[in-house]
Amino acid sequence: MPSPGYRREMPQRYRMEAAKCKACGEVSFPPRIVCSGCGTREFETIRLSEYGKIITYTIIRVAPAQFSTQVPYSVAVVESDNGARLTTQVVDCKPEDLAIGKRVKFVFRKLYAEGHTGIICYGYKAVRA
Ligand SMILES: [Zn+2]
Repeated sequence: MPSPGYRREMPQRYRMEAAKCKACGEVSFPPRIVCSGCGTREFETIRLSEYGKIITYTIIRVAPAQFSTQVPYSVAVVESDNGARLTTQVVDCKPEDLAIGKRVKFVFRKLYAEGHTGIICYGYKAVRA
């Protein structure tokens, strides 16, 4: 079965819901319970921007089992235009096409199939904008 964390966050992931802290304005995706910026627990729900930019990235050449058929692939920390930072795969481009500061667009894709059950988990990935 999908991990408890994945299932808990699934509604937000599917709807691209992010949380904006009512006190300091920090945006988190998936939404958190407690703001990592100021510790407040009050948020407004906003939609994650469709676009963002690469803050940093790395190329994965040795991957966990469920991603082993995809190597090499890129994983980046992307900052959405409304300030949420998330770690995501960057797909549909060669690793050498990536650079810090490049614009990306979030797309909804299959992430991986869960072990022997074959349950497919979906979520967001990034493509070059
Ligand atoms: Zn805050």
